[in-house]
Amino acid sequence: MKKSLALIFLSFTLIQCIAIKAESNAAPTVEISNKTYEKNYENNPKLIVGIVVDQMRYDYLVKFYNKYGEGGFKRLMNSGYNLKNVHYNYIPTYTAVGHASIYTGTTPVNHGIISNNWYDKYQKKSIYCVDDDNYKTVGANSGGKKSPHKMLTTTITDQLKLAQNMNGKSIGIAIKDRSAILPTGHTADAAYWFEGGDEGKFMTSTFYMDKVPNWVAEFNNSGKANNYLNQTWDTYYNIDTYTETLPDNNNFEGQFKGKETPTFPYNLKELRKLNGNYSLIKAIPAGNTITTDFAEAAILGENLGKGVFTDFLAISYSSTDYVGHQFGVNAKELEDTYIRLDKDLERFLNFLDTEVGRNNYTIFLTADHAAVQVPAYLNSLKIPGGYFDTDKFKEFVNNITLEHFNSEELIENISNYQLFLNKQKLKELKLDAQYVSQVIANEILAFENVYKTVTAHTLQTTSFTSGILKTLQNGYNQKLSGDILFVPNPSTISYSKTGTTHGSGYAYDTHVPLIFYGAKISKGSSNRYYPIVDIAPTLASFLNITEPNGSTGTVILEVLE
Ligand code: ZN
Ligand code: ZN
Repeated sequence: MKKSLALIFLSFTLIQCIAIKAESNAAPTVEISNKTYEKNYENNPKLIVGIVVDQMRYDYLVKFYNKYGEGGFKRLMNSGYNLKNVHYNYIPTYTAVGHASIYTGTTPVNHGIISNNWYDKYQKKSIYCVDDDNYKTVGANSGGKKSPHKMLTTTITDQLKLAQNMNGKSIGIAIKDRSAILPTGHTADAAYWFEGGDEGKFMTSTFYMDKVPNWVAEFNNSGKANNYLNQTWDTYYNIDTYTETLPDNNNFEGQFKGKETPTFPYNLKELRKLNGNYSLIKAIPAGNTITTDFAEAAILGENLGKGVFTDFLAISYSSTDYVGHQFGVNAKELEDTYIRLDKDLERFLNFLDTEVGRNNYTIFLTADHAAVQVPAYLNSLKIPGGYFDTDKFKEFVNNITLEHFNSEELIENISNYQLFLNKQKLKELKLDAQYVSQVIANEILAFENVYKTVTAHTLQTTSFTSGILKTLQNGYNQKLSGDILFVPNPSTISYSKTGTTHGSGYAYDTHVPLIFYGAKISKGSSNRYYPIVDIAPTLASFLNITEPNGSTGTVILEVLE
């Protein structure tokens, strides 16, 4: 009896052992549902909103502070974290490069967007940053053969999609195509931009979809663009109170076709006839207002910020750039544009509070570059500056190559302050590219308004650690950039004598706002220097995900709660 009991006990134990063994061979079970993903990232806000203000100088936050209401810029500055010394750290400071660098956390060295347009030395033609003939226009008649394929690295928006196993939505919105396409990277659900001319529609490309969603079609049919253009643009407040800018009629402003003076009020209904019909909206504050309208429609139409996963909305306000280019950085038109953008921001923040919820979203606001004071205006104040004469420069370079190498065909292209050598011709003439580059670099220094020159060879073999050559090196891509690069004098632009532009590595072009605001962001401000490439790794750390694959920035610790 004792024996049989022992046997029974033994066999039970055996069975148990076998059972345990069988169990350990099977995959351990875990709860499989969206709930588990949600848990991984449960501390993340439901919506990230990136706001880029095209051509916004840092000093607009300060200069127009008392013109802003409590709910727009001021709300971000005073309840968020205001970084006052953020700079672009490469040349050239153009729109495409800026948007790519913000979202990839690196510079043209790695992301390959070396300008808006550049000379492609392999195809031997000028190309545009987001052109792509593999895709077609969606939602309009033209302007849609676009994709982000020239951008070689991932964006923070790509990384968020990858981290969430392609869940969550990412959507880009801007008047300019490049400003909607580059921020949302290669995995975006959509990027929408505005087609002017006789269309007046937000549209996209087959890279994203074959048909626009109903909410986009409804928005385009709503007649909003038309309504904005049938109004008059006058100053928001009494123009006499706009004491921060030059007189309304000054010598440094460009103007619309069909207008005698660059002065308020602007009869848009009349002006649209001579200024590209719907394209006029790009160049006035209403361009920012309709961008805000469309962003709100996107949040409602796509239920952004309401799902299990974190969504990303990348907005870029393009009209500030058009106004800055046309009127300069010190015009009444520009001041009014920022006062009105402040109202759009206030409305948008209130909308986010209501639709997404105060604790469910996080925002960052920055700019893709700043801009220089109109050089002619600086000259009137005895400050050096001027205009770079590209035609004269081409002639000058021709004479150099003729004199030294007895050929006028050695330069294939000059663009973005870079010279591209004709490698075929060099071969024919048995000339050494490195030697020719050095001779040209030495000689062009004598040209009016050229400040520094450097060869590609030097940039490949020297690591600059500071100064303007470091900035130039950060913008230099070995595979894509030219053979000789040069830097114009400070406040020297290749532009008309009215209005202004940007593109340099000087502080007036590199110093931009950066404010983080919302869920899990500290409150405060800082005067510490940060390069623009720190935004993406900061967001990666904030979201607890991997940074973009070319990221060269570091985390801005002080903004994180
Ligand atoms: Zn821009
Ligand atoms: Zn611009």
